This record gives sequence, C-alpha cells and structure tokens, in this order.
Amino acid sequence: MTNLDTSPAQEVCPAAHEGQGPCVQLWPEREVPLGGVRAMNVLRTLPQRGLPTVGAWCFLDSFGPDRVAMSVLPHPHCGLQTVTWPLEGAVRHRDSVGSDVVVRPGELNIMTAGHGISHSEFSVLPATTGTGSSPVVEELPVSRGLQLWVALPDEHRHRAPSFEQVRDLPVAVGEGFTATVMVGEFAGHRSPATMFSPIVGVDITGTGSLDLPLRPDFEHAVLVLDGHLVIDGQDIEAGPLAYLGAGRTSLAVEAKPDTRFMLLGGEPFGEDLLMWWNFVGRTHEEVEKAREEWEAEGLLDDAAAAASRFGFVQGHGPDAGPEAGRIPAPPLPGVKLRPRTRG
Ligand code: MN
Repeated sequence: MTNLDTSPAQEVCPAAHEGQGPCVQLWPEREVPLGGVRAMNVLRTLPQRGLPTVGAWCFLDSFGPDRVAMSVLPHPHCGLQTVTWPLEGAVRHRDSVGSDVVVRPGELNIMTAGHGISHSEFSVLPATTGTGSSPVVEELPVSRGLQLWVALPDEHRHRAPSFEQVRDLPVAVGEGFTATVMVGEFAGHRSPATMFSPIVGVDITGTGSLDLPLRPDFEHAVLVLDGHLVIDGQDIEAGPLAYLGAGRTSLAVEAKPDTRFMLLGGEPFGEDLLMWWNFVGRTHEEVEKAREEWEAEGLLDDAAAAASRFGFVQGHGPDAGPEAGRIPAPPLPGVKLRPRTRG
C-alpha cells in the first residue's frame, strides 16, 4: 500500500546503536490523514518520534476493519521491502516486475523494492459490487490488514526489485498459543520469506499464561489486534505499539481468551534512515532524486516507462476505467531536516 498521508513529513531515523534493555513502553497509534482511500481507517504505529525502527521494521500501518474497497493506483517504492499481511478480505497485487496475484488472510506478500519498483493494490470485490458510479457500500467485503515496511541494509538497498508470495507459512504451536511465522524464525520454525537482516514477525493467538521464546540480541515490540495482554504487569490492548526492548530470552504474557497479537523484532538497525512518502533512503538528495524520477517517468510512454527505474504496472492504462492512472508524488516539504534522537 502507499503511504496515504497527503503531505508526508520527512522522517529522520537515527541508527539504533544498541538495543535498550527489557522494558514496556506504549507508543500511541495515530490516525493517518486520508488521501486516496476515502473512509478507510488507517492507524500508524511506526515510525514514531523517538522510536523510528524496531529491528529493521520501519513502518507499520493497520487498516480496517471497514467495508471499503482498497483501490491504490501504481506508486513507487525504493530502499525497503513491503510486507502485506491481510487479516480480512483479499487484495490483488500487480507490480512492475510482472506480478499479478491475489493475497488472502494467512498468506504473505513480500515486495523487495531495492533500487525501485512500482505496484498497485485493489480489493477483490464480489461480482455484484463495484459496478456503476456508486457501489453499494453494504455489499463491500470487510477489509482489514497490516502494511509493514522493512528497511533494507545499505548493502542490499540498491538491488534489483523482486516479489514473492508465501502461502504455506510455518505454524508454531506452544503451551496456550498458535503462532504463524510471517518472517524470520520463531520457536524453531522458519518462514521461507526472503529477508535481508536478522528479523522476526509472528502472528500469535493465545489464551492464558504464555511463555514465548525470544532472541536476546533482538529488540521486540507487540501490537495487539484483538483482545488484551498483560506484560510485566502492564495492560496492553489494541491500538498502541508496545516496545519491549532487547535482552529478553523469553516473554511471559498473560492473554485474555483468544487474544491475537503481532510480535515484531530484529537486530537493532544500525544505519541512519531518511523516510519520505514511499521511499527509504539515507539523504535528502536521494529522496529528492527518487521523487523527481517517479514524476518524470509519468510522462514516458509505456515501453520507456517499463525500462525506467520504477517500471510500469500493467493494467492501469488510459482505457482501464477506475483503475487508470498512477499516484503522483506529493510535494517535498520545504523544511530543513532535523535529526532525531532515539528513546
Ligand atoms: Mn505500496
């Protein structure tokens, strides 16, 4: 998905030179000003001022549940991987490396932008809806999901773009919990998803007293999706991101029945990042150049666009009706960048 913010700020993300020790910090979610997807409820928990990354996780948006159709026209990315994790509803993904797939709950889309890619995302609608100028809202299926980004380390951020879908993710079953391993390794189960830094992402449903194995060299955070957790005596409900620090070999969790939550973690990311709109770079000049190139590519014919940095997504030509077009880059903010301190 695109960053829906119509006037995105530049996010200066200083390197995490070492992980903080075990802690429980609640970082509040914030509503994203709505752009292209009207009426869709989007809550952002990363990046935060003071918590730009958790491992290489650098962006976390939760959307829905809402009966709205996602219709995100082609837009660019660079320097990151997008991780799409639908909770309800199916999404059709098309990109400039030729992918055209539907992703459903339990399945994972990973798009490695590297030097540059573009893609579109549209809700899969029943045949009876979405026709005419005003679709019947009550008939739209429920859309709910997570859009995450992973910053690529410097040695990989200029690589050629690629896409993969993983449909058979490993499931770890422990005392009181079931855990789908989205990326990385958890409780002896490893996701086949291709990642470029030491990282973990797990979707856990549990009840009662859970004892989750963690890597002490990773920092971790938890996002409750449904239900209620208690960690180190602190109540955690849906909404904020609970940052847990590093240095834990296990995590004792009290979960109300059928509480569902995401566990995200990784080696503290040791590089400064500059994030703006859909780009992750290192300098203002890089981000400015990516923006200029995306804008310039919009003026090319299809063949020239296909050979350009961000490429060309099939199916959005002038005759594509409501799916015609591309998302122009917002203006760059004129403010001088100011570094942030972490924690
Ligand atoms: Mn996107």
